[in-house]
Amino acid sequence: MKKPFVTLEQLKDIVKTYPTPFHIYDEKGIRENARKLKEAFAWNKGFKEYFAVKATPNPYIINILKEEGCGVDCSSLTELMLAKALDYKGEDIMFSSNVTPAEEFMMARELNAVINLDDFTHIEFLERVAGLPKIISCRYNPGGIFTTTNGIMDNPGDAKYGFTKEQLIEGFRILKDKGVEEFGIHAFLASNTLSNEYYPTLAGVLFKLAVELRDKTGVNIKFINLSGGIGVPYLPDEKPNDIMVIGEGVRKAFEEILVPAGMGDIAIYTELGRYMLAPYGHLVASAIHEKNIYKQYIGLDACAVNLMRPAMYRAYHHITVMGKEDAPCDYKYDITGSLCENNDKFAIDRMLPKIDVGDLIVIHDTGAHGFSMGYNYNGKLKSAELLLKEDNSVQLIRRAETPEDYFATFDFGEYFSKLL
Ligand SMILES: *Cc1c(COP(=O)(O)O)cnc(C)c1O
Repeated sequence: MKKPFVTLEQLKDIVKTYPTPFHIYDEKGIRENARKLKEAFAWNKGFKEYFAVKATPNPYIINILKEEGCGVDCSSLTELMLAKALDYKGEDIMFSSNVTPAEEFMMARELNAVINLDDFTHIEFLERVAGLPKIISCRYNPGGIFTTTNGIMDNPGDAKYGFTKEQLIEGFRILKDKGVEEFGIHAFLASNTLSNEYYPTLAGVLFKLAVELRDKTGVNIKFINLSGGIGVPYLPDEKPNDIMVIGEGVRKAFEEILVPAGMGDIAIYTELGRYMLAPYGHLVASAIHEKNIYKQYIGLDACAVNLMRPAMYRAYHHITVMGKEDAPCDYKYDITGSLCENNDKFAIDRMLPKIDVGDLIVIHDTGAHGFSMGYNYNGKLKSAELLLKEDNSVQLIRRAETPEDYFATFDFGEYFSKLL
């Protein structure tokens, strides 16, 4: 069973100061998980996790991960600005973007970030707009279908990312000729994987590729970036990944492939987002309406603006009706937001305890790709974000949007003063 990391009593207290809806994050859970990841890869001297900022672009949260030794993986100008504000620089920043505008490469170079090129043509583009650094990484796309012993994981042949193998070989030769001294290889072949096989299988592919690239081009490969993709169990009966087993699986591939090739000093990097934070965030909302027509609906004060994954991917997010954890689930509800969009449903035909207007609702696993995916459709405003600290106190780490924020981009013209 999924249990919230906050109690009803805590929430009743919190809503006196911070009205629903809000996202709340669990500092203790975040730190413990980050330490476990580090432990799982402690066998690799250069191991580093670069937290994927897009998952939860909040400086207060990222600072917790920074204290746990994580770097940042950025993919846009504002993400680089966040990294800069947190005093990240140099090799603590990975810049893994695609379809990259010139000014973003320029900012990445200014911060001395490690740039992970998404395409062969970006070699020439980067050199022209910002100059080539001494260290560079390239993203690999093997094409075809990616499978592990558990079956099909995803379809890289259909993905817009990365270089083909031929392009990588040619690209590494060109970059070496142009004075690049150290190289990295990156690939992200499947998302939200619930399988201890994903990373070890991916590592096997990239380790063999590293040996081939070294043999064919003579470059010095410094790191292999397994990127993101380790998933979390959104469903209550799914089995979580075992990060120790995953780390051990990658170690085995490392010992089998890289060590015999004399490449045992390569560093392993990760760019996890979901795995670092998803379970350590809740979206907390209140039931504000009940409606009975052809189905039974419970309307919340949160909507897809606050959590888009159910609308976008039909993703399952577990729901706890606070204070009714032990009540029988004998009501079948659609749990909805208020958007004029029928996909604005946090749950469809979900069996839950009887919900009354005023009940506090916890929507689980919103700590990554939750708040950050939000938008402003219907002019709905984004919520606050709160941090439940290790001493059980609560800190506001982002205030809720106001109409002033929503209308701020009309500040040049005649309607601005009338709007507010
Ligand atoms: C989104 C992303 C990640 C993080 O993915 P998760 O599924 O959250 O682990 C890592 N690297 C890159 C390049 C990404 O685009």
